Amino acid sequence: MSGVSRPLVCARPGCGAPTAAWLTYDYSAQCVWLDDEPGAAGDQWGLCADHAGRLRAPRGWAEVDRRVTHRRRYEPPTSMVS
Ligand SMILES: [Zn+2]
Repeated sequence: MSGVSRPLVCARPGCGAPTAAWLTYDYSAQCVWLDDEPGAAGDQWGLCADHAGRLRAPRGWAEVDRRVTHRRRYEPPTSMVS
């Protein structure tokens, strides 16, 4: 697929922020992945850091974050701190 160009801005409508993560869907497996780099297969969308952080997988789907930067910079959600 040499003719496919990868967008360098967030795929969300109205958002022009730089792409920071790659979202991959697998409909047959009902799973979504977040990656630092675009993968070789699947339906992929580039997302900015803000939209990637607010990603919600469709109901019943699994959500897997494979980003190295995400694991390294993990912080507990502020909503769990009371
Ligand atoms: Zn965005």
